[in-house]
Amino acid sequence: MNEHWDAIIIGAGTAGLPAAIFAAERSDKILVLDVAPEIGGTLHLSSGQMSAAGTRLQKEQGIEDSPELHIEDIMRISKNTADRTVAGLAVNNAAETLDWLETIGFQPLPDHPVKGQAHEPYSLKRYVWGENLGKSILAVLKPVFEKAIGSGRVTLKLNTRVTKLVLDEDGAVTGLAARTGGGAEETYSTSAVLIAAGGYVANGAMYKELSGHPAYGDHSYPYCVGDGLNLGLSAGGTAQGHENYLTSFGVVMQSYDVPSKVRCRQIHWPERRMPWEIYVNAHGKRFIREDEPSVDVREHTIQEQPDLRHWIMFDSVTLQEAPPLFADFGADDIKTAAENGEPMFYVADTVEDLADKAGLPVDVVVQTVADYNAAQSRGSDSFGRQNMPRGISEAPFYTIRSQAMSVSSTVGLKVNESLEVIRDDESTITGLYGAGESLGQGAMMGSSFCGGMLVTPALTFGRLLGQRLLPIGDAARAAAE
Ligand SMILES: Cc1cc2nc3c(=O)[nH]c(=O)nc-3n(C[C@H](O)[C@H](O)[C@H](O)COP(=O)(O)OP(=O)(O)OC[C@H]3O[C@@H](n4cnc5c(N)ncnc54)[C@H](O)[C@@H]3O)c2cc1C
Repeated sequence: MNEHWDAIIIGAGTAGLPAAIFAAERSDKILVLDVAPEIGGTLHLSSGQMSAAGTRLQKEQGIEDSPELHIEDIMRISKNTADRTVAGLAVNNAAETLDWLETIGFQPLPDHPVKGQAHEPYSLKRYVWGENLGKSILAVLKPVFEKAIGSGRVTLKLNTRVTKLVLDEDGAVTGLAARTGGGAEETYSTSAVLIAAGGYVANGAMYKELSGHPAYGDHSYPYCVGDGLNLGLSAGGTAQGHENYLTSFGVVMQSYDVPSKVRCRQIHWPERRMPWEIYVNAHGKRFIREDEPSVDVREHTIQEQPDLRHWIMFDSVTLQEAPPLFADFGADDIKTAAENGEPMFYVADTVEDLADKAGLPVDVVVQTVADYNAAQSRGSDSFGRQNMPRGISEAPFYTIRSQAMSVSSTVGLKVNESLEVIRDDESTITGLYGAGESLGQGAMMGSSFCGGMLVTPALTFGRLLGQRLLPIGDAARAAAE
């Protein structure tokens, strides 16, 4: 083996960067390995929305909040499916993380904090992000991390993929193996490894195996292919969260390929835009009141539909008169895309032809539209929809295929309250720690999306590990001797 390191951090991303920054205050032998050619991980792509209770920002604005209220909100939103211990550890320490980020230059948007945005809202304003989303966080972490490298306390190796953990006969971690960009295999000795290698969304096969659904969206960091979870499992760790898979609602893909980039995003939040359209599933049937107020209900309902899809159906009057259905994609764009036969967009002079073109069962769709038109005339429908401004009656008729997808990994390594990776029998794997999406989103938010509960925990766990949980520095060395 090469020289001995106090700790090795796998991944220079959201969790790995703060871990290295703080670990450098206790040790000058910190090694950070990343398979990518640059640091930052998913922060390059993430919306970077964070939630924390009891922050300086909240206090300045007179918002009385506490970690207790935050965790109660998470348990309410997740219907008690989040892991109270692990999510609680994140929440209890989140304010300090956000305050620290601000001291190194992070600036939330001027009107923040807010209660929510895309996800089920919190009961209090504790949600922030910066102008450049995830990149706003990376922009302030990067100089501090580079300073730690400059001081010689942290060593960074990019283009280096960790392929194996090395264990002793008792199952404790003693090092790891990694493959460099040139293809050489190197081994490194350490008694503390932090898995901060992100999730597995960029690994289509693994995603499908663990969630039961394809990874429809091509929006995850390409280097997050599940190595973190696989490395942890290879050392005896256990995976959790399979039951918590959840998809978000309503994007239109650029192509029929899987994965594909998103072309436009449906404004499906009734508080922002009341729907004029109906939604039908692959059976040609409506499945929800389109103005369902809870985004969590919409997400769970779309998850029960074939291929996580719906078709948004409307007529020419709605196209022209309704408020914009998508952000940055107007009525003329929809019309042109449909007339040109571009993927996901369909137009026809009759409802029959429309269903046929979209590959939907014609007779069922005709009946669904007739039933909706009758309900709209009556002013009530069987789903309890409140907002029905008009029926679907004026040719040409339109439909757009909308896809549900997720950009994060549900399943992850099980850890204890010290962030040590644990086995099925809850025993710890000595020297192995985890943080970030390698722990899975299910632990933080169960079968729901709770705003900011991936980025903030990743940063927070990285910070805690660097500050105190990783057994490094003089005290740890003395204890080991
Ligand atoms: C489009 C998008 C929007 C999002 N928006 C939000 C949001 O607003 N709020 C929120 O809370 N969450 C959000 N998320 C999720 C959140 O950003 C991620 O869960 C979080 O950033 C992951 O942090 P991480 O440290 O676990 O992984 P990353 O930041 O991805 O870091 C992992 C690092 O490990 C490296 N790596 C992987 N395998 C290896 C290996 N074998 N050897 C060496 N290095 C390796 C990778 O190259 C990467 O640099 C979003 C995600 C996406 C994709």
